[in-house]
Amino acid sequence: MDELIKFEGWGFRDRPMSTQEEHGVTILLDEERCTGCRLCENLCPANIYEMGSGKMKIKKERLSYCFVCRACEVSCPTQAIAVIERA
Ligand code: SF4
Ligand code: SF4
Repeated sequence: MDELIKFEGWGFRDRPMSTQEEHGVTILLDEERCTGCRLCENLCPANIYEMGSGKMKIKKERLSYCFVCRACEVSCPTQAIAVIERA
């Protein structure tokens, strides 16, 4: 589900965000920061990313395969991705 949320963490405020949550893992993707470079799509071993209208999107049906390796989060050149694991 893509939705506009207000997330008041590390610099994201009133920004269009893609957010998905599954098995205690939430991926936040800041669409304004995303340049569509496709690095995350190419790196993710769980194949959860796909391009849509020039911005990266999260495939909801694939999110359960995310094992929180954080390759996407640490590699995104614009820090558009946050991977949050519920404690
Ligand atoms: S690595 Fe970052 S900037 Fe590049 S497509 Fe993914 S989210 Fe967008
Ligand atoms: S944390 Fe790893 S498995 Fe999860 S979405 Fe990012 S690159 Fe894919």
